[in-house]
Amino acid sequence: MSDIIDLCEQSPAYVRAIAPYQPGKPITEVARELGLDERSIVKLASNENPRGISPKALAAVKAALPELGRYPDGFELTRALSQRLGVTMQQIVLGNGSNDVLELAGMAFLAPGRSAVYSQHAFAVYPLATQARGAESIVVPAKHFGHDLEAMLAAIRSDTRVVFIANPNNPTGTMLTAAELEPFLRAAPKNVVVVVDEAYNEYLVPDLRCPSIDWVGRFPNLVVTRTFSKVYGLAGLRVGYAVCHAEVAALLNRVRQPFNVNNLAIVAAVAALTDDDFLRESFELNVAGMAQLLAGFKHLGLAWIPSHANFVTVEIPRSRGDKAGQSQAGAVFQQLLRRGVIVRPLANYGMPDHLRVTIGLAEENARFLEALQAVRKG
Ligand SMILES: *Cc1c(COP(=O)(O)O)cnc(C)c1O
Repeated sequence: MSDIIDLCEQSPAYVRAIAPYQPGKPITEVARELGLDERSIVKLASNENPRGISPKALAAVKAALPELGRYPDGFELTRALSQRLGVTMQQIVLGNGSNDVLELAGMAFLAPGRSAVYSQHAFAVYPLATQARGAESIVVPAKHFGHDLEAMLAAIRSDTRVVFIANPNNPTGTMLTAAELEPFLRAAPKNVVVVVDEAYNEYLVPDLRCPSIDWVGRFPNLVVTRTFSKVYGLAGLRVGYAVCHAEVAALLNRVRQPFNVNNLAIVAAVAALTDDDFLRESFELNVAGMAQLLAGFKHLGLAWIPSHANFVTVEIPRSRGDKAGQSQAGAVFQQLLRRGVIVRPLANYGMPDHLRVTIGLAEENARFLEALQAVRKG
């Protein structure tokens, strides 16, 4: 026993201090634990596309199965992205999910004695990518649950090397406009990498999307990250990418595993990228589902944080209706689980009174709202 303790203490203190990522509860686990039928469970906990993988991507995956004996080659996907986005292939870095690219930014620029700046209530991978390098986290208080860019700019120190910005942010759904973000990019020190994480970019109405890829040409310290996990429906395959200056990309590629994105993910992403019908239908389904959920919350007298993504975060009032009352969100989460509906509790994001709900299919949203109503009535 003491041998294993001695061994584990050889791991750097900053690694031992990491709080592991808490994923949304998988359907199989909830079914096992609560004795429910898997098919009866609705999972609205991980911001996946409720329509799943697109038929075109699925066909590409099936066609690629016989090639699995070969190592993957990211060339086709990199080329497709470069054509689609109007950047050179040298400006693209592929990731095993965009999570991987966020880690690469940490690996390439952070180290003990350096720091990263990000917002309170921001995506949980930023603290992980920072702490895993032994760097210090500078967490800037949120403003109305969103990023306070002025305060974030002021928080940058001489040892800061990375700023993480999620736009829109998970788990709050808040967004920054181009008029807010562009001045930040202009003002940020040139020796600080600004990672703008656009995992939900495709869910923004086009007018609200930042010209972030154009900005990469103007701001050599900007790294834009995107993913195929959300609107593209490929969360289980793990594929995302960064767009940045070619010299920055070269650095990220030095710390990247050579074969970090697998064959099936590559062919599926190439197919999904140009499946415009699937993207449009997914976007429209999200708009309708958002309206359905918000109408339901209104009916139940619940407040929510206005969201620009494929989820919405709802406030569950405390028992006495004041700050001294007991938080109810955890109990509501558990009661929803027992009714076969999985959502996301946010206590580990510093939001003990909120639950995050992914927008699902119309019938899934209805199941969730019915369960929530039943739970609220007690
Ligand atoms: C889901 C998400 C990601 C990406 O996840 P991957 O599956 O690793 O691509 C990145 N950033 C935010 C804010 C997210 O919510």
